[in-house]
Amino acid sequence: MLTDYHLHLRPDEPDTTAERYFTAANVERYLDAAREAGIEELGVSEHVYRFTQALDLWRHPFWEEQARDDLDAYCEFVRGTPLRLGVECDFIPGAEDRTAALLEARDFDYVVGSVHFVGEQAVDHEGWDVWERSGDPDEVWRRYFEALAECARSGLFDILAHPDLVKVWGGARPLPERDPRFYYEPAVEAIAESGIAVELSTAGLRKPVGELYPAPAFAAMCVEAGASFALSSDAHLPEQVGFGYADALACLGELGVREICVFERRQRRLETLGAAVRED
Ligand SMILES: [Zn+2]
Ligand SMILES: [Zn+2]
Repeated sequence: MLTDYHLHLRPDEPDTTAERYFTAANVERYLDAAREAGIEELGVSEHVYRFTQALDLWRHPFWEEQARDDLDAYCEFVRGTPLRLGVECDFIPGAEDRTAALLEARDFDYVVGSVHFVGEQAVDHEGWDVWERSGDPDEVWRRYFEALAECARSGLFDILAHPDLVKVWGGARPLPERDPRFYYEPAVEAIAESGIAVELSTAGLRKPVGELYPAPAFAAMCVEAGASFALSSDAHLPEQVGFGYADALACLGELGVREICVFERRQRRLETLGAAVRED
């Protein structure tokens, strides 16, 4: 079994309206790409902040600008397709009850929990770049992984997205000098306690860092802590479905991971991991 659960039906760009991208023809393009990549389980996880309902959780100016679509219309659309229904939901400290209410009111197959922001600034967004405010990599990495630990521990989510997203810029932003395992540690502890599935994401291969999320040392710590993995590309275009899976599967193989998480109506089971059919 191969899955691709963390994907978006549209790029993160202006004018990517629901009308244009939430169409049967667009879904067919993603399904075709999945068939070609040997992916049996395909699910979509649109960013929660693109829906007006997300403003109940947070009123960050970026969210105010992005929240245009209706979450229930999205759920209804996806339920009319062969895709699994997911959502990528940011962990917003202090909004746990409202997040739970938003998620529990819909019949998602799974919820991908993300940390993109530390405080008001983002680790992966040039418009809200955390590095402009704080040049101190020790502080940024520490705060990022503390937020990731809280995200895991909240119990709100099934899958922990791109677990070391803070490295996205690679050498283009300051990197901490100490062994990164120091920063991973609190997150791994929270992953172990919560039982959340760790996302092995190939998205980092398409970013300046040019690496899988999580880094091999982080993934190894997760394995040691008994974590299970979910497999995704974080595609924003059909041609990115299953991108880099040969690398992802090689990484999991080296770690001795033979099974991946499969989700239906927020129930998780483990399936034997399949083989990549494409090299890219
Ligand atoms: Zn994300
Ligand atoms: Zn995403």
